[in-house]
Amino acid sequence: MLRIYNTLSRTSEEFKPITPGKVSIYVCGPTVYGLLHVGNFRGQVFFNFVRNWLEHLGYHVDYALNFTDVDDKIINKANEEKKSPSEVSEYYIEEYKKDFKSLALRMHDRNPKVTEFMPQIVTFISNLIEKKKAYTSDGVASGLNDVNFSISDFKDYGKLSGRKPEELQSGVRIEVNEKKKNPLDFALWKSAKDGEISWPSPWGQGRPGWHIECSAMIKGIYGEQIDIHGGGLDLMFPHHENEIAQSESCSTSGKFSNYWMHWNMIQFSGSKMSKSLGNIIYMRDFLKDHHAEVYKWMMLTPHYRSTADYSEDTIHQAVSGLARVYSSLALAESIFLHVNEREFVAEQKYHEELQAAWNTIEAAFNDDFGTPSAFAVLFEVVRKFNAQFRRGMKVTPAMAGKAFQFFEFIKKFGGFMSLFQEYPTKFLIELDNQLLKKLGHQRADIDVLVAERARVRDGKDFAKADEIRKQLTEMHINVSDLATGSFWEVMK
Ligand SMILES: [Zn+2]
Repeated sequence: MLRIYNTLSRTSEEFKPITPGKVSIYVCGPTVYGLLHVGNFRGQVFFNFVRNWLEHLGYHVDYALNFTDVDDKIINKANEEKKSPSEVSEYYIEEYKKDFKSLALRMHDRNPKVTEFMPQIVTFISNLIEKKKAYTSDGVASGLNDVNFSISDFKDYGKLSGRKPEELQSGVRIEVNEKKKNPLDFALWKSAKDGEISWPSPWGQGRPGWHIECSAMIKGIYGEQIDIHGGGLDLMFPHHENEIAQSESCSTSGKFSNYWMHWNMIQFSGSKMSKSLGNIIYMRDFLKDHHAEVYKWMMLTPHYRSTADYSEDTIHQAVSGLARVYSSLALAESIFLHVNEREFVAEQKYHEELQAAWNTIEAAFNDDFGTPSAFAVLFEVVRKFNAQFRRGMKVTPAMAGKAFQFFEFIKKFGGFMSLFQEYPTKFLIELDNQLLKKLGHQRADIDVLVAERARVRDGKDFAKADEIRKQLTEMHINVSDLATGSFWEVMK
């Protein structure tokens, strides 16, 4: 049984889909006017896991993430670059897709764009006007009218964010706008300015406000109600609050999204990442220096409702953690590849041990996607495996069977998060190289020492061999003498 923390109720609720066996998910996507940075992909890494987990639980999932391809920022960028807004948005959608592909996540089922939903948006707004939840700035001589949502006509305004309109009004910097009845009313339709991109509507040429797009796209794709609406915590107010006001006002049942899930922000070396601080790191630049799994690890090891720290330290911890898992995968592989698969002897006791660990992991995932406790169990399984196999011993069919069971277990865990998808031996070298760089050692120097140690060991000069091992230990290098040969790795 899955429980989800619903921002709307501020409690963890049992998950019940609208239609048995099916789940609809809508996540607010990027405004496509620039490259995305490392802070922009947390939700996508997380919802990739959510989707996979729901499918594991037997649901058929339909997952949409939108592109905001009409917006002030896009129009400004187009003017700056002397391009059309659609040239700008199409270009950045393609760039987004490249970054998304590099992260090796599953594709969304849909990526709706605002410009593809103009008729639905216009109908939605007309509906709100009819229901007296929205009003036009009538009497403008040019015939170009704005349409605003009237928050005073939606009694539940503030229920998601827990902010009361009265409190908001006193705290807000009030924009002078004589067209609005209440300063907190928000634009559904903005009348066209000279030379700006616009669409026809009953209120003259114009374009939609930001909030209405998600409401209209959800209705257009899924109908009045969806199961899960996701977004960053920074979108809760006003964006999601406004989506609720629009959609519930328009819906015949008065319902919109059953579960609201918000992921927390990324703390950038203890502060916020922003253009003004000059500390923006684009996703693709991060991926030039680090593997995508490093990023996914950083995003998934903290709980999604906690902040994720981004710093040199947390990158190092992620590399180190991944290397620990990959090193055990490489070890397992080196063991079971020694024995013909048909000869593996699966151990019942180990099977039960892994099953018990898996049950704990399932329980953690089912408790609002509790990744931190699940990773703790994973580490314990890795630790126990290493403790058993990091000794020189002849490979037996039983050992091979166990190594194979372990390997499958780790792969299964990783599969839900798009982690542990690389070839262990090859990727471990890449990870170790990063750790070596941090330690200031060269791979070749270590190879020389390890070879020298093997040579003196063969000559039975154990005192010298121990001395070299000590030297390597001081360099944070661990040498294992396994039945399959000696190998070294950076201590994790
Ligand atoms: Zn949205």
